[in-house]
Amino acid sequence: MDPVAPRTILHVDLDAFYAAVEVRERPELAGRPVIVGADPKGGTGRGVVSAASYEARRFGVHSAMPVSRAWRLCPQGVFLPTRMELYLAVSARFMAILERFTDRVEPLSVDEAFLDVTGSARLHGDGATIARAIRAAVASEERLSASIGVAPCKFAAKIASDLEKPGGLVVVPPDPGGVVAFLAPLPAGRLWGVGPKTLERLHQLGARTIGEVAALPLAHLRGAFGDATADHLHALARGEDARAVEPERAAKSLGREHTFDVDVADRDEVGRMLLLLVEQLAGRLRRHRLAGRTITVKLRTADFETVARAATLPTAVDTTEAILPTARELLRRCDSTRQPIRLVGVALSHFAAPQPALFEARRDVQGRALAKAVDALRERFGDGAVTRGALLDSRPPGTDGGAKPAAPRRPQQAGE
Ligand SMILES: [Mg+2]
Repeated sequence: MDPVAPRTILHVDLDAFYAAVEVRERPELAGRPVIVGADPKGGTGRGVVSAASYEARRFGVHSAMPVSRAWRLCPQGVFLPTRMELYLAVSARFMAILERFTDRVEPLSVDEAFLDVTGSARLHGDGATIARAIRAAVASEERLSASIGVAPCKFAAKIASDLEKPGGLVVVPPDPGGVVAFLAPLPAGRLWGVGPKTLERLHQLGARTIGEVAALPLAHLRGAFGDATADHLHALARGEDARAVEPERAAKSLGREHTFDVDVADRDEVGRMLLLLVEQLAGRLRRHRLAGRTITVKLRTADFETVARAATLPTAVDTTEAILPTARELLRRCDSTRQPIRLVGVALSHFAAPQPALFEARRDVQGRALAKAVDALRERFGDGAVTRGALLDSRPPGTDGGAKPAAPRRPQQAGE
């Protein structure tokens, strides 16, 4: 897309996502401080908070905080375990709502995405109109609250969505002067890529707001940070951010990963999470009519060592049944230390555009029909509508069928 053409970009972010889903599922929790994450075990628990309701935030509780600290700050809080399966199902429906308004949706995580709605104006109205329609759909269909920023670039849209949470809608004027005026009074720490060290240095240069960063001579910035960082900060501070919204279907790889609330020693639990991630990934692949040949599994241990293993299959795959056996084999090969696990992820790449006739002929047509039916059920009723018990054990007869040639038990070649 022409970087100088005016664009309308939305950043949509669900409010206190996991906690809001829990409250929705148990209305008696409404208005109470709800904290989702690791078990606090009376203040001795390890692990972190994954999400805190706005009521809990009033006590100073926030996500990524050690759960023992959350317990001390808010002992009357309702502490709940994370239910990823539920959140992933809600996430899939949330993304499907966004995709009604444009096919240019770039998910950033389970509960937030960028949308480029520049081309949607004729059908759906301007940015603010689309934002209100999304908020209304999320509220009526998922009973969740979303905050949305509308701006001519990603950076400003992301900041705008955060300014009036929860339930906020902030529209940044589309002209360049409007973006600059919007950014100018905000603290310099809001600039992307500015950590505590960079922020301290900016303060030393006399720049506490984004407007003051923009006003610094570029030579001063370059002297302090080097050319690349200086040019990046200078451009962002002036609202210059030409990065395009990159829809998943146009990406070179598609992946899902999960960080556990507490490092997990139990390999069965890691395996169950891998299954959930593979199912979610396969659903996204089919939605985008993509199929990939290379499967990559990533594992991060408690001591922050990250190992990834990849394997390339002879044919492109897009179903859980076809991806899972190889993913499990790769997981075993990643997992040599027996350390507790912090993060597990799976990705597919090396996409082949599905060629209907050829594609169907060498695949299990029944398996695809089943997968489509499951997708449709999930979209209507959520993941709980479809049992995956069979997948957790070895595959029973009839569910693996013709997927065999596409899913060898052993990876064929490894790029490690
Ligand atoms: Mg959020």
